[in-house]
Amino acid sequence: MIPLVNLSAHHQKLEPRLTRAITRIIKAGTFILGPDVSAFEQAFARYCGSRYCVGVGSGTDALIAAVRALDVGEGDEVIVPAFTFVSTAFAVLATGARPVLVDVDPITLTLDPLQLSHVLTARTRAILPVHLYGMPADMTAIMAFAKKHRLAIIEDAAQAHGSIYRGKRAGMMGTIGCFSFYPSKNLGALGDGGAIVTNNAALARTIRTYCNIGEIHKYVHTIVGPNSRLDTIQAALLRIQLPHLDAWNRKRRSLAAMYNHALQDFPLTLPQELPDRITNYHLFVVRSPRRDALRRFLARRGIQTGIHYPTPLHLEPALFPLGYRKGAFPVSEKAAREVLSLPMYPELTPHDIQTVASSIRIFFLRKTSLRK
Ligand SMILES: *Cc1c(COP(=O)(O)O)cnc(C)c1O
Repeated sequence: MIPLVNLSAHHQKLEPRLTRAITRIIKAGTFILGPDVSAFEQAFARYCGSRYCVGVGSGTDALIAAVRALDVGEGDEVIVPAFTFVSTAFAVLATGARPVLVDVDPITLTLDPLQLSHVLTARTRAILPVHLYGMPADMTAIMAFAKKHRLAIIEDAAQAHGSIYRGKRAGMMGTIGCFSFYPSKNLGALGDGGAIVTNNAALARTIRTYCNIGEIHKYVHTIVGPNSRLDTIQAALLRIQLPHLDAWNRKRRSLAAMYNHALQDFPLTLPQELPDRITNYHLFVVRSPRRDALRRFLARRGIQTGIHYPTPLHLEPALFPLGYRKGAFPVSEKAAREVLSLPMYPELTPHDIQTVASSIRIFFLRKTSLRK
């Protein structure tokens, strides 16, 4: 059995240190905010190269807080790719603003900058690109468009811890970068968690206040906000893991290179890394028109796969009220039919990769001979 991700293998080495941190915090009895949270925020800001980092309750809350802090709400529009996790669009809706969807680039499956001018209106306030699967979006073109039309950029870097675009870390190119520490992300908490990074002091302050029920001093609340702080225990656990993130990402990249080599002769679209960006291979996603049959075949051989994501945003029932129709975003719709995430985590072995590759080989050989 080869799982899609293996968190128990992933945590094995650091487990004694993680357990010690939890015990230390239980003994201290300080569970909300405090030095563990600020130490992690400083370390993560340094890692990203940002001036400020604010820990929050989840990646979804990071996105909501970012849109809010930019004063975007009722009557405003935010441009969002049609192919992403639902949170990207839900965050915009949570503020009362409207997510305006655009199709994605057929190679990177990230927001296609050529679509931006088609959806720009007087109400457009921000662009929300997603570095999907860890692959940075085409930020140069997106940033040029944003600058020209005075739009803010919120990066959904929930899958892109450590990814690099033209020498810059994901999350550091826009006005605000949003991260998730959901357990299976490249940097994962042992529960929920998230953070924003920014170089803008006022935005960082607003987000810190907003996510702490609007409180600037004890019982002085200046804005209305949720209780969405980064949990103290999670911050301590994340700080133990952060120094290992680059090595884990390197491991994923070398595994991805093995996949790419082993799968090159099959009728599969492999992930393509453009020369100006470095992906963290949060997911290793191949594409095939026979995706569902391949997935069932691999499952029967004990190989777990995933689909990220089976439905483009405009076809999610919760987003029907936006009024888009089937056919509106052909690249996203085709991707949703064809993407297949193969097992990928730093503890996967070269032997596992060979097992997956030979099963895929058998699938395609069998199908070809059946057709003859
Ligand atoms: C995981 C993820 C989120 C949401 O993060 P949570 O911490 O689960 O709330 C948002 N956007 C993308 C692209 C994600 O992958």
